[in-house]
Amino acid sequence: MGKKTWIIATESRRLGGIVAAARRVSDSVSIAAVGSSDLASEVASYGADRVVAFVASDDVPVEPLGPCVAEFIAADGTDIALSNDSGSARCILGAVAGAIGAAVVGNAQALSLDGDNVVADNLIANAKAIEAVSAPRMACIYTGPDDDRIEGSAAAIECAPVPSIEDRAIGFEEATGTGLATASRVVGVGMGLATRDNLPLIDALADAMGAELACTLPCCDDMRWYPSERVLGSSHNTASPDLYIAVGISGSPNHTSGFRDAKTAVAVNNDPDAEIFNCCKYGIVGDLFDVVPALTEAFK
Ligand SMILES: Cc1cc2nc3c(=O)[nH]c(=O)nc-3n(C[C@H](O)[C@H](O)[C@H](O)COP(=O)(O)OP(=O)(O)OC[C@H]3O[C@@H](n4cnc5c(N)ncnc54)[C@H](O)[C@@H]3O)c2cc1C
Repeated sequence: MGKKTWIIATESRRLGGIVAAARRVSDSVSIAAVGSSDLASEVASYGADRVVAFVASDDVPVEPLGPCVAEFIAADGTDIALSNDSGSARCILGAVAGAIGAAVVGNAQALSLDGDNVVADNLIANAKAIEAVSAPRMACIYTGPDDDRIEGSAAAIECAPVPSIEDRAIGFEEATGTGLATASRVVGVGMGLATRDNLPLIDALADAMGAELACTLPCCDDMRWYPSERVLGSSHNTASPDLYIAVGISGSPNHTSGFRDAKTAVAVNNDPDAEIFNCCKYGIVGDLFDVVPALTEAFK
């Protein structure tokens, strides 16, 4: 077999499944525990051969340790790097992928070997299809089944030297709870809204419906209309409301996977061929600037 795997852990969520997936293709499985020293003790019982702690104090975000973790892992000659889908772990995984020249897979469900290549089953197309990605070196965000931790004695913990980080958190604020996870009605905003000035149109609809607001990634990252807590999709949040209304959203699988479990989804889009119509029970083909005020009146 001969593959060597490093797992980036900034928390223990899904770690049992990740270690089990790594074991199926590797002789050697190590965990880089990036965070508090308690984290290293916690992950040491998950069945890895080696645990290396990259300790950051509580007021330091772990992401700046990415280059240091990447350098350490690359020097160890690894073939596979894995992490869960938390933002901090993904950020460090990206640094490791660059350092080892690995192919990056965003939604790995399982790993296998094909000769010298690692094969990752990557979930695509709104979770309707799996593509097999094959490469000698692989960095994967693992979102597959979570197994119980492998029973065994805890691995000894080594401490890696870490640079002193100047970036410190200067305060903590409670995230404004969006209630998206439990909302029974959600209105999703897409780039079809075109400018910030048009957002009151959506506020009025959400008010009339008693709905939470969600958005697509560019409405957050590019336009800064909403904070990331409101982004629905593969790399952010999920919602399973009774009713989801997607307004001016094209229907990229990266977004639609975020409302996969909605009981009824409705799309408003002026392009009759928009992909979003394939993911919704009802489609309204029309200009949102006509349709949304009419819906608002109807809900009132
Ligand atoms: C690694 C990765 C992760 C990602 N993760 C996410 C994620 O978690 N969540 C997410 O949302 N995206 C994510 N994305 C981005 C995603 O791929 C899409 O680019 C994004 O969802 C598109 O946003 P949109 O539908 O708002 O914009 P667009 O694709 O620009 O669509 C706008 C739509 O509005 C319609 N429209 C325009 N004017 C009107 C009008 N007047 N009336 C009615 N309809 C109109 C258009 O026909 C079009 O269909 C990710 C991308 C990558 C690469």
